[in-house]
Amino acid sequence: MSRGAFPRRLRRRWPLRLVFAVGFLIVVGMASWVYFQGESLFGDVAAKLRGQGGPTLDDPARSASLDHTPQIVSYEIQPGDTFASVAKQLRVPSEAILSSNEFSELVPGKTLRILREGVLHKIKSRQTLTDIARTYGVSIEEIVQFNSQIEPDRLFAGHEIFVPHAKNFPKAKAYELAKGKTSGFVWPLFGELSSFFGPRIHPVTGKNDFHEGLDIEVPEGTSVYASQAGRVVWAGKNGGYGFEVIIDHGNGYRTGYGHLSELKVYRGQFVEGGQLIALSGNTGLSTGPHLHFEIRQYGRALNPLAILP
Ligand SMILES: [Zn+2]
Repeated sequence: MSRGAFPRRLRRRWPLRLVFAVGFLIVVGMASWVYFQGESLFGDVAAKLRGQGGPTLDDPARSASLDHTPQIVSYEIQPGDTFASVAKQLRVPSEAILSSNEFSELVPGKTLRILREGVLHKIKSRQTLTDIARTYGVSIEEIVQFNSQIEPDRLFAGHEIFVPHAKNFPKAKAYELAKGKTSGFVWPLFGELSSFFGPRIHPVTGKNDFHEGLDIEVPEGTSVYASQAGRVVWAGKNGGYGFEVIIDHGNGYRTGYGHLSELKVYRGQFVEGGQLIALSGNTGLSTGPHLHFEIRQYGRALNPLAILP
């Protein structure tokens, strides 16, 4: 090895080493920036998760929610009790009592669950947190905050969740529309019956016709409620029916609500019986403001009067 060979090699290599050195400094600089910014970066992610109601274990909002665990009071039904009298006695809305309990009749000796400022909701098959939030008029975030055990994307049918600050009480509405009776279907609204199920002369075409539903005469803009819990399979224009909502209730049963003026649900949404789904109207093949209501099983129209309470 000659004496001058090494320094020459070094001279040849030093630009390469400079590139490495600069690269190293850049990497170290970026790493320390990420390290010091880390807290706020992850903070943003946590805030985003919170915004979507996503589960984060050490979320301070969630720890705090444990202090707000709903207080459930048991009340034994006494002879002569009504929902109104119990509500007055315990200073809670009667709607909340109806929505938190399975039965709709007060049987002395049985126990009612009483909650303040919310309801206990039993999750149904294929019902999402978005559906439940919409049903009760609350935000998903509120529900998640008060239910530390649930994962928004993994709901189990049959489980119960606490819905805080519920604004809508579909079960109470269903009780009213069922005229206090316990039955599968409830009236979508109350009004004068202007056309019955069966053969008739069509009021618009003047031809022989089979009326596959019930016409209920109500002013335009009257609230229309779901006759039973189920999934909305149609919400939009549908020929002579005008704006229509169709709900699938399982076991082949579907209900249809025609001539609507305004839709309050979207296709795919799960609704509870007694939930507001639309406003009545006069759209499609109609001679005046009314609701056309149908109950079908496996496509065959049934006489609603034989089924409604
Ligand atoms: Zn009709």
